[in-house]
Amino acid sequence: MLTGGVTVRGVTRRFAGRTVLDGVDLTIAPGEFVALLGASGSGKSTLLKAVAGLDKGAEGHFDVPQRRAIVFQEHRLLPWSRVGRNVTLGVTGKRLRERAIAALAEVGLEDRVDAWPSTLSGGESQRVALARALVRQPELLLLDEPFGALDALTRLKAQALVARLWQEHRPAVLLVTHDVEEALLLADRALLLEHGRIARDLTIDLPRPRRLDSPRFAALRREL
Ligand code: ADP
Ligand code: MG
Repeated sequence: MLTGGVTVRGVTRRFAGRTVLDGVDLTIAPGEFVALLGASGSGKSTLLKAVAGLDKGAEGHFDVPQRRAIVFQEHRLLPWSRVGRNVTLGVTGKRLRERAIAALAEVGLEDRVDAWPSTLSGGESQRVALARALVRQPELLLLDEPFGALDALTRLKAQALVARLWQEHRPAVLLVTHDVEEALLLADRALLLEHGRIARDLTIDLPRPRRLDSPRFAALRREL
């Protein structure tokens, strides 16, 4: 059974009197993949941080699963810890190295468990950041423009990887992006944030079936 949906109501955030989020309502069903589109500066990251519980200045009603994980545009790996340690940082329990290796295997990087972050490419670093999210077995995965800094081919591979991981684990996903193509490729539903609100549901504009499910993208996923 899928658990871990999101319901937030009336999310409001002001910075020095300027209202960036103006009563946002957002629901994500368990296992649903939602893309949040919006122009630069429209408040996408602010909303994501509020949903993540990282912004104590955000007002509103939040019903969000405890087990959630975030991937940012920058990988935010600690340079002084090896890859495996980065993946399980803050995780408690036994057999952390095995758990790190298992999570790294899901992104094809199990052989880099003892590598230093500085030896990784940009794409590999983002995959480690994904492994760091996966090891927490998130019910909600929050992705803030995770592919924004990658070159086009690496981005396509990373998108295919996220698609596969989502299909295998089925967390609810909130993907912040300003890339309409990316939203069309990956999401069940695409919402547009404008003037501090969810201004439009673009889902009806999405081609069906989703390109994520298309034979060509499936072939790409197998190949990568
Ligand atoms: P997006 O992710 O859509 O590009 P952000 O959520 O990062 O936009 O920012 C929305 C607006 O809120 C911007 O005008 C930004 O300058 C402002 N903002 C975000 N965080 C802060 C902060 N900590 N202090 C002041 N203003 C902020
Ligand atoms: Mg942002």
